[in-house]
Amino acid sequence: MRHCPRCGAPTGALPAKCGACGYEAYLNPRPTGTVIIVRDGTFLAVRRARDPRAGWWDLPGGFCDGFEHPADAAVREAREELGVAVELGEFAGMHIGSYDFQGERLPVLDCFWLATIVGGEIALDPAEASEYTWLPLHDPPEMAFPTMDLVLRNPVIGRFGSRLAH
Ligand SMILES: [Zn+2]
Repeated sequence: MRHCPRCGAPTGALPAKCGACGYEAYLNPRPTGTVIIVRDGTFLAVRRARDPRAGWWDLPGGFCDGFEHPADAAVREAREELGVAVELGEFAGMHIGSYDFQGERLPVLDCFWLATIVGGEIALDPAEASEYTWLPLHDPPEMAFPTMDLVLRNPVIGRFGSRLAH
């Protein structure tokens, strides 16, 4: 059962207007920023250390903090998860997905940028990822989240990847 975030009265499924206090609650997607770090026709994947989808290959990224732009979130998450500075390249796409958190299925708006590492050596945050690898852009495996499968199978990614390769 959902409860009104303002007065605590029970409400139905979102969107809902609280019958007790009039508060209107919506189920809006939460934006994320994610990097597809490319090198020589491959992209960097990290193995998720925690649920949801622990053990699956993932792209570095995460939720925006307050009013943070998704591009800034992508750069920050790369720094926090990998210990490196990245420079964003072309915007690679955005897809609506879902994220299971605290017993709820939240809608998310996943925003992806191609990126290259411009500083630092990769040092994973063990709370986030147990290992990393470079996977082929032309034949990516199934990833942790379907939005990643969508963006990695976008044919323009291969073109971007080869342009950014060095
Ligand atoms: Zn209320």
